[in-house]
Amino acid sequence: MGDFNLTVILDAIRRSTGGLSRVELAQIVGLSPQTISNISRRLLDQHLIVEAGKEGNGPGKPRTILRLNPGGQYAIGVHLDPAVTTFVVLDLVGEVVQHARTTTPGGGNPAAVIATIASTIETLIADSGVDRSRIAGIGVAAPGPINLDQGTVVDPPLLPGWDRVELRDALRDATGYPVLVDKDVTSAAVAETWAGGPSGAGSFIFMYMGTGIGCGLVLNDEVVRGTSGNAGEIGHIMVDPDGPPCDCGMRGCVKSSCIPQAQVAEAAREGILEGPLEGLSAAEIQDGFASLCRLADEGNTQAAAILDRSAVLVARAASVVANALDVERVVFGGPYWAHISARYLSIIPDIINDGSAAGVIHDVDVVSSGVGDDVGAVGAACLVLEHTLAPRAQRLLLET
Ligand SMILES: [Zn+2]
Repeated sequence: MGDFNLTVILDAIRRSTGGLSRVELAQIVGLSPQTISNISRRLLDQHLIVEAGKEGNGPGKPRTILRLNPGGQYAIGVHLDPAVTTFVVLDLVGEVVQHARTTTPGGGNPAAVIATIASTIETLIADSGVDRSRIAGIGVAAPGPINLDQGTVVDPPLLPGWDRVELRDALRDATGYPVLVDKDVTSAAVAETWAGGPSGAGSFIFMYMGTGIGCGLVLNDEVVRGTSGNAGEIGHIMVDPDGPPCDCGMRGCVKSSCIPQAQVAEAAREGILEGPLEGLSAAEIQDGFASLCRLADEGNTQAAAILDRSAVLVARAASVVANALDVERVVFGGPYWAHISARYLSIIPDIINDGSAAGVIHDVDVVSSGVGDDVGAVGAACLVLEHTLAPRAQRLLLET
């Protein structure tokens, strides 16, 4: 039980804002002063915590405050998106100390993509100046569906050739570090709980606006992964009964009507954007969507109408999930969010609150991620830190 107590103590210190004394720790975690003292010694020896000054002006001896040591351990986070791959080095308190972004190589060759990821990680570590021995591992946020047990990516949209690719093992072999793989939307939710500040507490859904739209779920401070790690698939919530047909046989699903691809196609159909309507690559969708947002911001009313309409549809989907789980907050983020945040936040909060089943009892806050644009990569790194620090019931196994 020694290691479990150790993670309990580390987690309590992490969750405190200004650190904790040994006496406070004993009260919070319910272990004996002797156990607290022994484990604190081990954590100090491992450089995972530091003694950070003394506190107390009442009678008795001032208490030494224990805090996490930011440089005590690091984690690498990688967010594999069909268009862009983002990399971060995170320290033990969840601060980004190094960051990189590359275009995800197309061409349907996963082995080449994994080799590029591995070499970028090498450069990232060298640039960060971080001691390699203090890097606990690599977390990868990937588009779903994923097979958590096998660490494989299973045929996600817009990543041709990625059918049952053994991402975890291949990246471990290429880098020598332990690797964890989780779904992008789940990683985003994990990041929010670790590094999002007030928006990451309690019960919320994380609406992930990427090449696809997914949903991370956090109930009572615990990230919900579901039976296989694939919770949060909201692509077939119907949001527009007259909308475009979906591959599931219905019409107007999230997947057929509100993802960026749908708006880019609509804009092309209306002649606002040039180019083909179908068969676009992830990079073309990203460029097209950025152009559409720019046009709307410059006053093009047709472009603005397409985006405003999509905000209404996304709000309907978020409302269904928020009601099903009775959450206090809807957090928006992901790679496309920065383009649309102002517009969406002027439309979505009213729709969610007007449609709230518990509206007479509590409001639902609608906010932007407190983590920012790198939320997927930060979350992937947090998975590694979580494995090191947090005494969760549902622990992911770090393959070594
Ligand atoms: Zn559908």
